[in-house]
Amino acid sequence: MGTLLIRPPGHRRDVALRPSATAMVWIGEGHPHETIAVPGVALADGDVLVATEMSTICGSDVHTVQGRRSAPVPLVLGHESVGRVIATGDAGANAVDGAPLRIGDRVVWSVTVSCAGCDRCVQGMPQKCRNLGKYGHDRVGAHGDLTGAFASHVQLREGTAIVRVPEALPASVLAPAGCATATAWAAVARAARDRDLDGAAVRIHGAGLVGLTAAAIAAEQGAAVEVLDPNPDRRALVARFGAGELDRDPDVVIEASGHAVREALAGVAVGGIVVLVGSVFPADPVPLDAESIVRRLVTVAGIHNYTGDELAEAVAFLAGRGRAYPFADAVGSVRALQDIDAALVEAAAPGAPLRVGLIPGR
Ligand SMILES: [Zn+2]
Ligand SMILES: [Zn+2]
Repeated sequence: MGTLLIRPPGHRRDVALRPSATAMVWIGEGHPHETIAVPGVALADGDVLVATEMSTICGSDVHTVQGRRSAPVPLVLGHESVGRVIATGDAGANAVDGAPLRIGDRVVWSVTVSCAGCDRCVQGMPQKCRNLGKYGHDRVGAHGDLTGAFASHVQLREGTAIVRVPEALPASVLAPAGCATATAWAAVARAARDRDLDGAAVRIHGAGLVGLTAAAIAAEQGAAVEVLDPNPDRRALVARFGAGELDRDPDVVIEASGHAVREALAGVAVGGIVVLVGSVFPADPVPLDAESIVRRLVTVAGIHNYTGDELAEAVAFLAGRGRAYPFADAVGSVRALQDIDAALVEAAAPGAPLRVGLIPGR
């Protein structure tokens, strides 16, 4: 006769951290971040505790501290990170590929936490889960303090897509995977659902990290790609990410700038698809010329975040054919986590690198 192990509901595993974890808490516009020490966490059964190796500052973090995007405070910002598993809850957790996660695994993870059970999750839209959580976006409290990437540790909850990453890739390549790379992958994949990209003409608006990454992904799928951006510093990068100039109207337009929706809709060829990427909003509404969309048989698709499988595919790209592109150079500046306020100023400045990196304990 077997033994039945009964665990009390709501059981949590206490993990002490020596030295304490550090989280940089944003308390509102115009205030410097506050540093808090977190001496321990209580892990729910499916939780995973990760020690941050590097986090990167995404444009949406900059928008939040500038007050251009509302956020509940106090808040630990940051949702682009690579780290290492240092503890799990009693039930353990699996990576997206189904293999159990082990202490020491180097991982990236989704910005969203989803329930897997609601109608939207079941329909393949976990990023629109009815019980959605988001790292770097939720007020500290209900799920502890380690809820964003601008911290020495992050407490990952059950329902997070976690992807094991190769040791050989630099942290600067991997940290942006959980937002920029996976979003770019999802945008190109959305276009590829409608249109074989091999031989297609693809125009991308915006030479930020999402746009440049989408260029490299589309080029690797056989597309001719151009990237448009008003900023000459950014334009200087596009050739290194596989882009050149198109000699015909684009079959696919990916709007990754937030400022060229009108141009994207007007420029696409008859029968083409326009993919609007949601990581760059808020943006001003634009008038929609419905007759033009209809008569030109244009498809317009929105992309916001990505699925766990898309995150895994994005990482596989970085580890494979993506190695031909200078993703490591995207992080043009690396600072100590404690210098978060100066790092955010640097990330918001004209001529900023594609990403500013943050490393704990420096
Ligand atoms: Zn982001
Ligand atoms: Zn759900």
